[in-house]
Amino acid sequence: MNGGRDRCGPPRAVVLDTDGVLLDSAVVHAAAWKTAFDACLAERADDETGAGAPFDSDAEYRRFVDGKSRYDGAEAFLTSRGIHLPAGRPDDPPGCGTVRAVAARKEAAFREALAAGAVVAFPDAEEALEVLRARDVPCVAVSASRHARTLLAKTGLDRFLAAVVDGEDTARLSLPGKPDPALFLHAADRLGTAPGDTAVVEDALAGVQAGRRGGFGCVVGVDRSPDGTGSAALRQEGADLVVPDLMTLVRDVGGEVR
Ligand SMILES: [Mg+2]
Repeated sequence: MNGGRDRCGPPRAVVLDTDGVLLDSAVVHAAAWKTAFDACLAERADDETGAGAPFDSDAEYRRFVDGKSRYDGAEAFLTSRGIHLPAGRPDDPPGCGTVRAVAARKEAAFREALAAGAVVAFPDAEEALEVLRARDVPCVAVSASRHARTLLAKTGLDRFLAAVVDGEDTARLSLPGKPDPALFLHAADRLGTAPGDTAVVEDALAGVQAGRRGGFGCVVGVDRSPDGTGSAALRQEGADLVVPDLMTLVRDVGGEVR
């Protein structure tokens, strides 16, 4: 790991994933996916292949869904269970007949959780962004979700960010989702820094892959699990270093915190 850590000197700019890195929202997304998938899997509960087993909102969320667009995540998980649905139309109502209908049910469940005030910022995220601002290191938050800009504003984290690139931008610019690096490259471009001088901070496997493919100078995995169970997989996908929180990151890559 020393080789990887050595790559991670003080960056000129930082591109941070939003859900699970800045906002404690990955669990809220995972729970909404469970609502959507389990409603459809229940119809296959008798399937002897196990295709109808309930969605594992930890392992399967990480492996197939986390970091991806709503549609790509739904399709990847359903395919993993041997379930092949037609794509459907963007205005499909929540249901189980098409990939977009399953994704629509997730969106409805997620909006319900948002209305209940389920999403908050990680305390260490605010602290770390403050340190980076004091060091004059510009930060941009990225997300595949169309909710990210609103949530970052609601939690007040947007005041530390030079820019936000979220699902609205990816749709407008037709950027492919992670693990394609397009979203991160667009974010670095917004900051005017070369990928090689920029660090990417991600909690999702697809996001770490995207950072690697984009040629970023340092790819940091964030594993907030209490027992560090996600760290090995993040390293395997190419994370140069894995941290349990963002204050550890600013200490590790920037020296003393003033
Ligand atoms: Mg994430």
